[in-house]
Amino acid sequence: MTNIILLGPPGAGKGTQAQRLVDERDMIQLSTGDMLREAKTSGTEMGKKVAAIMDAGELVTDEIVIGLISEKLDGAQGGGFIFDGFPRTLPQADALGQLLASKGLTLDYVIELKVNDEVLVDRIVGRAAEAVAAGGTARADDNAESLKVRLMEYYKKTSPLIGYYYAKGALSSVDGLGAIEDVAADISAVMGKA
Ligand code: AMP
Repeated sequence: MTNIILLGPPGAGKGTQAQRLVDERDMIQLSTGDMLREAKTSGTEMGKKVAAIMDAGELVTDEIVIGLISEKLDGAQGGGFIFDGFPRTLPQADALGQLLASKGLTLDYVIELKVNDEVLVDRIVGRAAEAVAAGGTARADDNAESLKVRLMEYYKKTSPLIGYYYAKGALSSVDGLGAIEDVAADISAVMGKA
């Protein structure tokens, strides 16, 4: 079992790469963004509480996301967990370390997807346009205003995790700008054979 974190700003391709790892390595994707969107759609108390925060592009409280992740870790099976969009703050990173240790699990790789900001904006705006063209609706937070907030949240609160995991000797960085297959190959090279 291999447990990894995919780290990177919004639009870096974390979800896309996580999906490939699920398909290819039988891993379990734990996306706090997906869990929160689900809570929002199904209208749970927690969902109602976080809706406006998410739409604005701000981070929800550490307590909420740590709780969500904690519930999922007991089902450890298959190829391992992919943490996608979690942790996003230093307290979340500490909490994850403790949670994993308490369940006898290890954190094997933290893989940073490196991209530049202009590409991110293009990708996110493109993602919204594609969703609409396909007859669906864009994510409520895929708009220019909340994107600015999401990027700022990333730089203020999440990017310190790069140094945190580097200092722990766990960090690998891959170029997230290439084609999906090329990024996937770089991630595979970090993780070794499936
Ligand atoms: P994502 O799909 O990962 O981009 O997450 C969408 C939104 O959910 C974020 O902009 C936050 O409002 C919220 N969110 C997701 N994961 C976290 C997290 N680990 N900590 C705080 N807020 C989060």
